[in-house]
Formats: sequence, structure tokens, C-alpha cells
Amino acid sequence: MFCVECGREGKLYNNLCESCFRKKTVLVNLPEIINVSKCLHCNSLFIKKWFKSKDIIRDAISSAIKYHDDAEDYHVEIKLLSRDEGNADVSVKVSAVILGLSFRGEYKVKVKIKNAVCSKCSKKFGKYYEAIVQVRAADRGLNDTEIKTVIHIAEKIVEAYDTFVSDYEKMHNGLDLYIGSMNAGRMIAKSIADKYCAKHSESPKLVGRKKGEDVYRVTFAVRLPKYKTGDFVYINGKVLMIKKILKSGIIAVDLENHVITSFKRDEIENAKPVSNAVKNAVVVSESKDEVQILDPENYKTITLKKPKDFKAKETVKIIKYRDNVFLVP
Ligand SMILES: [Zn+2]
Ligand SMILES: [Zn+2]
Repeated sequence: MFCVECGREGKLYNNLCESCFRKKTVLVNLPEIINVSKCLHCNSLFIKKWFKSKDIIRDAISSAIKYHDDAEDYHVEIKLLSRDEGNADVSVKVSAVILGLSFRGEYKVKVKIKNAVCSKCSKKFGKYYEAIVQVRAADRGLNDTEIKTVIHIAEKIVEAYDTFVSDYEKMHNGLDLYIGSMNAGRMIAKSIADKYCAKHSESPKLVGRKKGEDVYRVTFAVRLPKYKTGDFVYINGKVLMIKKILKSGIIAVDLENHVITSFKRDEIENAKPVSNAVKNAVVVSESKDEVQILDPENYKTITLKKPKDFKAKETVKIIKYRDNVFLVP
């Protein structure tokens, strides 16, 4: 067997001796200039499509580099030689194995980075939306913690769905969120409902036609319960402190005996509110079953039955409802 190029005898690679094979083989094709676009707002990179890039230079080179068809075990070493806002000069060292022979090459590449606005950001800044999530609470406004939590949930979900919140609006003591994707909007509504034992519903609205198909926008209405964790309510002769609002219902403490009870959401919806005015009262004396305290309003001594396992300290927390005084756990 001999080389078809030079006639030398010996081991052949695609009918060529090693020397001729090396001369004829191109390890990689890599353009001297690589153009990419980077989003001004979110740093996404455009190479065929928009995507989040952790390393623009590396991604630009990886997308532009074409290896020899038979290359195996390739390794790329990228070294930044100089960089300004829109240009990066890079040295790219490549090694690979082709038909059992090691190849090496070093290339100088310029990556030109152009500023642009990605499709997601242009929709976001154009206030595009497919869904509105309307969050309200029954018979009350949302408090700051609830608003923060709702926004946090929404931001996490839009991130996961690769979409955006194009606007927030405080409306009617609640919050409206404008969401770039319908599915993300649905997930946000569901997650808020799960967290707060809230009711939710969706109503689509036809807004037009695009490419022969109906285009809908959906409003997801989420209604938080009237009461929230830490609230006091009166129901069926009992004064309760709400401990937890779960997907399945509400956990409350009966202030009479500090026994924990659970309710369905609807059961507690009709409860009467009890003022949340918890006061500190000084403990005068304590026995096995009772505790004597000073009423912080008129300094009269009141004797209260101690719930099981209740340990009084120098002061205790109390709450009044009608003429009754309760120890708060
Ligand atoms: Zn040869
Ligand atoms: Zn962007």
C-alpha cells in the first residue's frame, strides 16, 4: 500500500501517508470574525435564536466552530487577548484526534458584539401580556406582606416559564399583574391560591384574530380569604386565633383551652372578626389551674383558667372579646 499523493509506502490514512494526510486535513473551520447580538436589557445572546448565556465569548465561538467530520476528543482553550464594549480579540487553541492522529491548531478570532433588544424584552417593554392575574382579598385589602409574597411568587414563575411580568398595578386594594404568557399566568394564580387557601377562576376574552386563529387574553381572579394568619375570629361561641392557612383549610387555636382545631375555608369565611389588639398583662400570681393578672386598662385583678400546658411568665399576652378575657398562646 502506498500514498496516492506521494507514493510513499507505510501506514495510510484515507489512502494518504501521515505527512500528506496532515497537509490535506483541516482541523476546524472558524471564521476570523464572529458577529453576535446581545440584549441591552437582559444580556441574552442571539445565535440563531435568543438564549441566556453565561459566557458570551465561549458561546459565540462554540456556535461558529466546525470540526473536521472525523474529529474526536476535541478540546478548546479560549484566551481573551483584548476586549472592549463591542469587540473581543480571542485566541482559540483546538486539539483533537482524527483517525488516531493528534491534531493541534491555534486561531485568532474577533467576536463583534452588537447591542440589540431580544424578543422577550421588546414584548416586555411594549407592555405585551397574555394574562392578567387579579389578586384580591375578601372584604379587606391585601397587606404589604401578601403583596410582597404575591410578587415574589410571580417573579419566580415567570423566570421558570422564560416570560415576564410586563406591569404591576395596585387596584381596588389588591394587585393586578400583567403576564407575558398565559400558562405562566395560570401557574401564578394556582400557586397563590395554594399558598393562601384562596379561590381562583379564569375567564378568557377574545381580543382578535391572528393568522386565522382566535387570540384570547385570560384574566385569572384569585380571591384570598377574609382572614389571614394571626387574625382573631369569633365563630360558634368560640374565639379563635388563626395559626395557619393551608391549601386544605385553616388551622386555628381555640383561645378558651388552646386546643388546635381545623376548619374548612368556607366555615371561617362567615366568622366575625375580633380586634387584633393583643395586650401585655402583668401576672400577679399563678396556681396549678389558674393565673391572676392585672387588667392593663383598669388595673383590676382578673383570674383566668389556665389552658393545659400554659406557662405564665412575668407578663402574659391577652385579648378581650366582649366581656371575656383570653390568654393568647
Ligand atoms: Zn504521501
Ligand atoms: Zn432581553
